[in-house]
Amino acid sequence: MNNPATITSVNQGLLEKLDPEGKLNLASCLQCARCSAGCTMRLETDILPHQMNRMVLMGMEDELLKSKAIWTCVSCHTCVSRCPMKVDTPALVDKLREMTQTAPSQDLEKINIFNNEMLKSMKQFGRVYELGMMGFYKMRARDLFSDLAKFPTMLLKGKMKIFPPRTRAAKSVSAIFDKVRARRAKR
Ligand code: SF4
Ligand code: SF4
Repeated sequence: MNNPATITSVNQGLLEKLDPEGKLNLASCLQCARCSAGCTMRLETDILPHQMNRMVLMGMEDELLKSKAIWTCVSCHTCVSRCPMKVDTPALVDKLREMTQTAPSQDLEKINIFNNEMLKSMKQFGRVYELGMMGFYKMRARDLFSDLAKFPTMLLKGKMKIFPPRTRAAKSVSAIFDKVRARRAKR
């Protein structure tokens, strides 16, 4: 990844798309990498948070949209809490995920379907109902037979339940989803 000093100009195009009003503070990034040092998913990802922010300023849209990083981020906000400039990397990740919806490749399309089905399941039941979620995912992704042999073992080991979970928190979780959706609509 280039040193900040080697960047002579910011590619405004991608920055404008992702952070038109500067609310995510992307342009303020100091490249101190405090976010990456604390990132919960730093061992799983292919691009660290400080690198992601730099790539936005460099206009590297294709590389970002094809990255694993935008799907491994778990929105834990550790990076934001460690950042001296309060750069909102998880919000950036959300926006990049949204951008993949407009021109998904086949792999990204499956990831999007999985992501959407998982969130729908969480909203409906208060936690993920794995069996139901996988059923909908497989139908929508037209991927009925892969990993089928694993189902009996997962059922036997209690990793998947036949019936949906009953949680008292389901209504509260659903309300959180609605609030987040409303906040995102205002951005
Ligand atoms: S901690 Fe903040 S300022 Fe430092 S590199 Fe990460 S996003 Fe940039
Ligand atoms: S919100 Fe995403 S990028 Fe930030 S620390 Fe958590 S996993 Fe890493």
